[in-house]
Amino acid sequence: MKAKFIFVTGGVVSSLGKGLTAAALGTLLENRGLKVAIQKFDPYLNVDPGTMNPFQHGEVYVLDDGAETDLDLGHYERFTKCQLTRFNNLTSGQVYKTVLDNERKGLYLGKTVQVIPHVTDEIQKRIRDIAEYTDADVVITEIGGTTGDIEGLPFLEAIREFALEVGSHNACFIHVTLVPFIKAAGELKTKPTQQSVAKLREIGITPQIIVCRCEFPLGKELRQKISLFCNVKYEAVIEERDVEHSIYEVPLMLQREGVDDLVCGFLRIDTPAADMAHWQDILRRLVAPQNRVRIGVVGKYIGLNDAYKSVYEAISHGGIANDTGVEIEKIDAEDIEKHGAAVLLKGLNGILVPGGFGGRGIKGKMAAARYARENDVPYLGLCLGMQVAVIEFAQNVLGFKGAQSFEFDPEPSHPVIALMDEQQRVVEKGGTMRLGAQSIEIAVDSLASKLYGAFLTKERHRHRYEFNHEYQDDFERAGMRLSGTSSNGRLAEIIELKSHPFFIACQFHPEFLSKPNAPHPLFKGFVHAALLHLQTKRPEQR
Ligand code: GLN
Repeated sequence: MKAKFIFVTGGVVSSLGKGLTAAALGTLLENRGLKVAIQKFDPYLNVDPGTMNPFQHGEVYVLDDGAETDLDLGHYERFTKCQLTRFNNLTSGQVYKTVLDNERKGLYLGKTVQVIPHVTDEIQKRIRDIAEYTDADVVITEIGGTTGDIEGLPFLEAIREFALEVGSHNACFIHVTLVPFIKAAGELKTKPTQQSVAKLREIGITPQIIVCRCEFPLGKELRQKISLFCNVKYEAVIEERDVEHSIYEVPLMLQREGVDDLVCGFLRIDTPAADMAHWQDILRRLVAPQNRVRIGVVGKYIGLNDAYKSVYEAISHGGIANDTGVEIEKIDAEDIEKHGAAVLLKGLNGILVPGGFGGRGIKGKMAAARYARENDVPYLGLCLGMQVAVIEFAQNVLGFKGAQSFEFDPEPSHPVIALMDEQQRVVEKGGTMRLGAQSIEIAVDSLASKLYGAFLTKERHRHRYEFNHEYQDDFERAGMRLSGTSSNGRLAEIIELKSHPFFIACQFHPEFLSKPNAPHPLFKGFVHAALLHLQTKRPEQR
């Protein structure tokens, strides 16, 4: 095994941006010419986050192979070239499931099955497996949760043993921690960091690098204090301030602090410094764009930034592609039900309805699609955002008043969105939707083919319901065109309106395939359309 290993742990509180830090380090190492693999360990007992409510867990990020994973994997894919699979996200649920299945098969030969070594072995196996099948130079493993959590202990024990086994210049520990600003004292405080590092050392892990998340500069004194009490070199106390404009600043911030140099030093990796010129250009377009547009995202988890993480990121990538700053207006679908679409959506240059499940807010989303359709405002619908556009069109253009999806009405008079055949007999909830990358054929002379510049593509999916083909002729006649289908021709993948500047919606999730340096064509086109909308509006409408 040629790989070197970096373990990223977190202290004090959750939501510190450990995933971002791991991903940003991945960017730097790749730009030093190294092959990087990144994986995430999650200590919860769910087999995967697919069954969790977005309020619990944020977005469920879907991979090509259909794995429903933690949203940090989205950061990994956006920041690096890594090809992720279901093996890049391991949960306690998966570990215990494997161990218990093995026990039932008698594979432990009569031994007492225990956390150490059986659970820890299973965790270590995953680190080794990733290193072997990716053939990476460096494997970054992020441990979810916070140091001190009971459920995280087996993972910490596993990486401690693993590091011991591979030897000191082959493994490096980075601890991401919080240095809070106490308003009353007007000071940054290092005590929580000291205590969380002490907790790690109790377990036998001594981090070599401490990444301090803070609102203000650390200063020399605090760096010295953290260095002394946490037993790391002065240069290994890293300041990671809250970003001013964009998360894409993080790699540059870490580079300035010398994190990648430190890591390469510890791991005795000899490479030239990272060339980040292209990344600087991405950032320039984000920080000082030529144009500005306003795009509304109409959803039901609007209060929680993590719920539509990839959607927000993909919109910003569309902005990068058009040298346009996008101000995202987050609009609660239920507020539209209360106050009306015109009140909340007026003045926007684009409207996006993302994916979702369940009937709450559905009327508001339909009203948003209708407003976009009737007022020539660019519209991008994703998954449920396509289904609501279809239902709205059926009700208000085709005049099918009782049109609905089976998801929200068990006996609609016009089931324009129906349960997929393959889903009819599905009873289990976890991992049973139509998931992952599927091929799509794009119609000639369509907006979709113009945007993609291709007639064939692959996109990631996560749904149970689909457009009901029995109604296709009605829709086509009235101007809603089916411009993308699954490769067997059976499933509607993209719909668009013929007499509208930009109204397009898809059954898949393009947001999972967008990167800052490779913006997705649908998002690129959407922001471009928003820009045209802005430029062609009369001044009083702007
Ligand atoms: N709830 C819809 C379905 O299952 C849409 C899913 C989604 O938006 N991801 O088909």
